Amino acid sequence: MNILLFGPPGAGKGTQSAFLVERHGMKHISTGDLFRVAIKNNTPLGQEAKNYMDKGKLVPDSVTINMVAEVLQSLKGASFVLDGFPRNVAQGEALEALLDRVNLNLDKAIFIEVPINELTERLSGRRVCRNCGAVYHIATKPLKNGKNCDSCGGTDIYQRDDDKPESIVTRLNVYADFTKPLKEYYRKKNKLVEVDGREDVEKVFSRLERSLES
Ligand code: ADP
Ligand code: ADP
Ligand code: ZN
Repeated sequence: MNILLFGPPGAGKGTQSAFLVERHGMKHISTGDLFRVAIKNNTPLGQEAKNYMDKGKLVPDSVTINMVAEVLQSLKGASFVLDGFPRNVAQGEALEALLDRVNLNLDKAIFIEVPINELTERLSGRRVCRNCGAVYHIATKPLKNGKNCDSCGGTDIYQRDDDKPESIVTRLNVYADFTKPLKEYYRKKNKLVEVDGREDVEKVFSRLERSLES
């Protein structure tokens, strides 16, 4: 089963993807994570993406689509979960062409819905491990021992620049203008599944699992 998760920033796409990797062995393709790794390694891709990401804007389609094309070519049969791509209709169309080229199919486009006041709380409290990318929250998912990353033991747990208030506003606007229209796009293709993203992560995951079976 190949799926994509989309929804507003902070809806829990990364968190739910991690469960799909852990419990269903799926391959996680997160364009945000790929860009952050490129930035950490200071590659040309990272240098280009950083200017847009820091402002909360979308990285240009051509750059993003080329990056995804490379990953899709290296999948070797594993089921995938795309997280954060596509983020606009042009990317949705590009994805179809890319999948055709490598003879793969997208089974479902899962939209995770969370109300805006809760998104702001989730985003402003989000913390990330610099070393492995594991995601925490100061209130709902703190570090188990208060100091080290639960996954890798790393100690550099940081707040993303784009999770600061000015960027959050821009990102929510970008979402409403460009990403939300993908709902109609996938509804027309009969691939849209909507999942209520409120309540705790396990509850959301069982809804997600049910939606995969339907
Ligand atoms: P996205 O990838 O959609 O931007 P994340 O998975 O990174 O979202 O989640 C954003 C923040 O909200 C993180 O700090 C995460 O720990 C927290 N979070 C995720 N899902 C939930 C949930 N169901 N309830 C409360 N907090 C959550
Ligand atoms: P979130 O789930 O919190 O919105 P992501 O980690 O998915 O965050 O994305 C962070 C940033 O990376 C976006 O605000 C954007 O600048 C860039 N980005 C990620 N995916 C895409 C994409 N598909 N197209 C363009 N820019 C992207
Ligand atoms: Zn870590």
